[in-house]
Amino acid sequence: MPSKPTLSPEAQQAFLRGLIERVASASQGPRPPVVVFDLDGTLLDNRPRTVAILREVASVWETTRPESSRILASVEVENIVYGLADSLAPIGVTDEAQVAEAHTHWRARFFTDEMLRHDVPVEGATQFVRAVYDAGATVVYLTGRDLPNMSLGSWQSLRDHGFPIGVAGTELVCKPAFEISDEVFKRDQAPLLRRLGDVVASFDNEPGNCNLFLRTYPQAASVLLDTQHSNQAPPLDPGVIVLRNFAF
Ligand SMILES: [Mg+2]
Repeated sequence: MPSKPTLSPEAQQAFLRGLIERVASASQGPRPPVVVFDLDGTLLDNRPRTVAILREVASVWETTRPESSRILASVEVENIVYGLADSLAPIGVTDEAQVAEAHTHWRARFFTDEMLRHDVPVEGATQFVRAVYDAGATVVYLTGRDLPNMSLGSWQSLRDHGFPIGVAGTELVCKPAFEISDEVFKRDQAPLLRRLGDVVASFDNEPGNCNLFLRTYPQAASVLLDTQHSNQAPPLDPGVIVLRNFAF
């Protein structure tokens, strides 16, 4: 959990509006303002992707494991937390072999272009990214999704949800290979974003990444989206701002 309280809706609105103004005035300067957004758990809620995969498991299990199949067929977004086993236990799927089988299917499907169409934008995300883009920001989507398996689906999902993509001043930056850890990838990429302009803000749902951006760009706002994050997350730097969503 973030060590810092999440901003109230009013404070969140004031912060996000202030950031749009900051971008607008910085865009008059010599170097473009850059705003960096993570995708999963930041701009996009990927829990519906997991729900869709569990429904696939439900149909595979229909005759072999009818009881668990029924449970998985009725799973809702609200049941999904960070770890799959932690999502399944409270709804009554605890058998080790079943959890392992569901996990194998989930892992084979979750990190694929095809399933990204199930993701939905976090509240206000589309409007906010459009607003900073229209105010003159270069928008960078910096994601732990990998280029071979997830870049085309990411591009399509961003386009279909109305995020600025495929236009001057936008970038989609993906991991070159699935095996690279998100943490290592972002640590290597963060300093390179200087070549695009002056980073003024970054948004991520992982405390470790928020701490990294605060260290790399101390003048910029580093923002945590308080959605879901890894169970092994480090403590959040007190300088990081915590938001519930992007409503402004
Ligand atoms: Mg994320």
